[in-house]
Amino acid sequence: MTELLHMRDNYLKEFDATVSSVGEGYVVLDRTAFYPEGGGQSGDKGELWSAGSKVLVKNVAKQEGTIRHLLMDDHDFKTGDPIRGVIDWDWRYECMRFHTAQHVLSRYLQLEYGLETVGNHIKPGGSRADYAPLDELNDQMKTNIENGVNDVLSRSLDVEIRFMPRADAIEFLQAAGYQTRYLEMVPKSIKEFRVMVIGDYDASSCAGTHVSNTSEIGSIVLGRTKNVGAGKRRIYFKLSNKGSR
Ligand SMILES: [Zn+2]
Repeated sequence: MTELLHMRDNYLKEFDATVSSVGEGYVVLDRTAFYPEGGGQSGDKGELWSAGSKVLVKNVAKQEGTIRHLLMDDHDFKTGDPIRGVIDWDWRYECMRFHTAQHVLSRYLQLEYGLETVGNHIKPGGSRADYAPLDELNDQMKTNIENGVNDVLSRSLDVEIRFMPRADAIEFLQAAGYQTRYLEMVPKSIKEFRVMVIGDYDASSCAGTHVSNTSEIGSIVLGRTKNVGAGKRRIYFKLSNKGSR
């Protein structure tokens, strides 16, 4: 099992680890700060250093029950080798800004339009999320949503990671009227939930990486939307006016 350092610290950019196993084109570490692709969020990229030379990591993914750092080039890592990992921070930080923005957008659409989030894809440059039931999104609605979401982002809300026993997390989220759809998808073997709390505005169970304050996001700009069937509509969005950190 690889210890996932990002679960507690979303701002960890470098870390030391040991090679647990190797395979063709990939390496498994005992611990990592790289985010493994999943929950709609893109996997991290970066570098693994050992004995003064580096190999580029093109993606990190869960495959056959292990967290694999998928490598760009040939490698000669061996089990037991000490490694220094360095995350591509520009890529990751964009993912964090987009992911927290998506949570705020989803909460806004839940509160104002009664919509449920049924999918997402978080990546730098532009992300998207799917909502239901939503047949159309006209320009007036887009403007209203942008203004509403940007008002929330501009409140500089702190984003906090909390760990709660499964039953407590479900009770907390349900009692507060937060979205609980994804709770059922969490395997029963998971006893402790990671809950992302955005000020007094939102909370949800999520394993992704997030900024620590909404002021880091800047503002959201909605793009095109498209029907993806069964009353679901996909909304593409970008970010502008990068915030501070
Ligand atoms: Zn999330």
